[in-house]
Amino acid sequence: MTAANLLDFDLDGLGAYCEQLGEKRFRATQLFQWIHQRGVTDFAAMHDLAKSLRGKLAEVATVQPMEVVSEQVSADGTIKWLFDVGGGNAIETVFIPEDDRATLCVSSQAGCAMGCSFCSTGRQGFSRNLSTGEIVGQLWHAEHALRRRGVASSSAGERVISNVVMMGMGEPLQNYSALLPALRVMLDDHGYGLSRRRVTVSTSGMVRMIERLREDCPVALAVSLHAPTDALRDELVPLNRKHPLDQLLRACRRYLERAPRDFITFEYCMLDAVNDSLDHARQLVALVRDEPATRIACKFNLIPFNPFPQSGLSGSPRERVLAFADVLREAGIVTTVRKTRGDDIAAACGQLAGEVQDRTRARDRLARRSMPIQILPLVAGARAGTAASAGQEKTT
Ligand code: SF4
Repeated sequence: MTAANLLDFDLDGLGAYCEQLGEKRFRATQLFQWIHQRGVTDFAAMHDLAKSLRGKLAEVATVQPMEVVSEQVSADGTIKWLFDVGGGNAIETVFIPEDDRATLCVSSQAGCAMGCSFCSTGRQGFSRNLSTGEIVGQLWHAEHALRRRGVASSSAGERVISNVVMMGMGEPLQNYSALLPALRVMLDDHGYGLSRRRVTVSTSGMVRMIERLREDCPVALAVSLHAPTDALRDELVPLNRKHPLDQLLRACRRYLERAPRDFITFEYCMLDAVNDSLDHARQLVALVRDEPATRIACKFNLIPFNPFPQSGLSGSPRERVLAFADVLREAGIVTTVRKTRGDDIAAACGQLAGEVQDRTRARDRLARRSMPIQILPLVAGARAGTAASAGQEKTT
């Protein structure tokens, strides 16, 4: 019989497991605290558990974190870990320290099957979903490794990590059954005690799963938007062909009824001459502000694109990003331009690739789409932030 990895359980699951072993449910709370709050993996060291329980656990269970393949530290303090998840696959996790917070960017899948054209994870194809233990294990490792090194906590009290964003490799909502217990461990006061506002799930737009998250565990929600029209988003985020913008934005609006924040964050990757004209910015304003069917309380996060080989895309010039942001801000929409962190260790947004044994042949399919996106013709002045709208019909 394979030993159960206790990192796979949320507190309820661990309670049920303890009952199966003939133990009282409350023992699970002690066990859970040892694992997640103190980072202990050796049952023998959990001294307030009965000796008989410690012996029993040692026979049938483990606390088995993933093996670290490598750790890279950026000049700006960002840390990227590569974890071995078996079968030739490895996933990446990124720690981003800032003055007022310390964020961990967590992966949910080995690879990703969504095939977004600007994303290096998508180019790698898809191997498998991560287990709950592998998702939680990233937080477990980062929190306790950093604590042991004496990394000071930011706003998180005793904890080092104050925020988690499910924005690493994979589409988290496509791995919902493992994601949900993992979120519960992050939020649990006996676990990491993060507030729902400080845990963000990012999705490319899985409408039905947004509805389920709303019911089961409404944490902060970010949506990879990347385009103001269906025609362009179909190209950049293929899932849009199944769930177009009006469906997606309606699901987002319903989500807000239960969300811990009163806005949805839209991620928008700025691609040179693809989705970055001032007309695109105006179309976005029309979409989220003016159009009654799709109007929504939101904030935009503009992400400088980090080019990677074979993408055929480049990032928008800085001045165009700023001009784009101005259009949104002038319409009263809170807009931030994401600071690029860890780009010297390929830890910035869209750069996570890990090692993926592709089972979907996504790499081949994407390679066959030789130039999937129509690059807008640029007129004089476009590079100064005044791109023409020509060709915008096919414009993530
Ligand atoms: S952007 Fe997100 S959903 Fe799209 S391919 Fe990359 S990891 Fe997958």
